[in-house]
Order: sequence, then C-alpha cells, then structure tokens
Amino acid sequence: MYVDAHCHLDFAAFDGDRDAVLERARAAGVGGLVVAGVRPADWPAQRALAGPGVKWTAGLHPMCVAEGEDWAAAVAALPAAFEGADAAVGVGETGLDGRFGDSLEAQTAAFRAHLAFARERDLPVVLHVVRAHGAALEVLRGDGVPAAGGMMHAFSGSAEVAEVCVDLGLHVSFAGPIVNAHARKLRAAAARVPLDRLLVETDAPDQPLPDGPARNEPACVRRVAAAVAAARGEDEETVLRATARNAAALFGPFEEGA
Ligand SMILES: [Zn+2]
Repeated sequence: MYVDAHCHLDFAAFDGDRDAVLERARAAGVGGLVVAGVRPADWPAQRALAGPGVKWTAGLHPMCVAEGEDWAAAVAALPAAFEGADAAVGVGETGLDGRFGDSLEAQTAAFRAHLAFARERDLPVVLHVVRAHGAALEVLRGDGVPAAGGMMHAFSGSAEVAEVCVDLGLHVSFAGPIVNAHARKLRAAAARVPLDRLLVETDAPDQPLPDGPARNEPACVRRVAAAVAAARGEDEETVLRATARNAAALFGPFEEGA
C-alpha cells in the first residue's frame, strides 16, 4: 500500500466525488493519505475524513497568517484537535512563505508557536516553506525540531537545503513539480535525500501534473514517485514502498481500507 503524504481531500473541490477520488487512489495502490491542515475552520471536516488509511494534521497555514487570521487562537485550539480516536496525527501546515513577505514577522511567531506545541506534545510537524528556506532553517535550528520529526512538504529548495533538513531530523517530501522536464534542481535534491527520509505527495487538488487532471488527486502520487525514482536511479516500486514506510514511521501505521 502506497501513501500520498500530503493532500487536501477536505477541500470543496472534492465535494462532488470524494468517494470516487478515494476509490481511484486505492485502485492505484494508494491506500494511505495525510490530509494537511490549513485553518481551524476546516479541522472538523478533516477529522470527519479520518479512518482506515486517512490521517489528518491540524495547523494554521502561513498563507492564512498572512491573510490576518488569528494565529494565537488557532494555536490555542490545537490541543482539542489531538483528542479522541479520530485525533490529528501531526501539527501543520506551518512554516514561512516568502511570497507574503510583509507578514513574515507574524508568520514567524505563528511558526514558532506551532513548533513549541509539537515539541511539547512530541508530535511531528508538517512544514510549508516557500522562498524563505534560510529564515525557516534558522527558526528550526534555533528552536529545535520535535523529537517526533516532521516533513518539509512540497520541497522547493536546493540539494544543499534538503541535506540540512535531513540533518535536522526532517523528512523531505516531493510533489508534482518534480515531474516537470525543467526541474533539474528538484531532481538533484531528490537524489540527495536518504531513502529512509523520502516522502511523495500530491498536495491535491493543488499542484497538478503537467499532463494530469487540472484538479490534482491522490492517485497521481504514483507519477511523482516515478519522477523521484528516475532522479535517484531507483525503480518506482522501491520509492513507493520506502515512502509508505517512512510516512508510517512519521504519522503512525495506515490501515488498508475496508
Ligand atoms: Zn498543502
């Protein structure tokens, strides 16, 4: 069973045919999904999806911090997300997005608060870092990565940054852009990550593949794995199996759907 380590199955884009999307994923061998948190208002819908093969994480996305959402209230709401049989399994998305540069101060404060909660509760973090790798690594080095680790989602940095992430105890997750013929930098990064720290994801419905459906979906993670495998000189099955194992090591075991 393979794992899409990061998607947004709760988004409205899937309201019309969510079961069919899950069915296509399972038919493609993708029996495990992690539904990443964006804002507290979405957490109940994510929780409702939790079940065999589907896990979720709770956090406030840096983009929402940039939009002015109350990050302190979101952090205060985190403990409740980790209660119950269908609790979240990780903290995030959190991190820094340099595209919204004028809110970096608030983004950093929110990021540090998410990290502190994850360290305190021994939970893995789901990191969203875009055009701010230097600053994000500085926060991670200074404050500390949780002992439970975490994942750098939809990795967009250099091979050197990937290496630093691994040294800090993080997993590095690749998404659709690595399929692009021009993605030389991403392929170099994918080749640098040890097999036991590698993850693959779709970020569906976002980040559609060059000739994939306009609304990306978890079944497409196999094409991401194929591109990662090619970059590493390994076969697709090796990457699919290792990334599924790694996702389970980070977030707990995924059960096969009934
Ligand atoms: Zn995402």
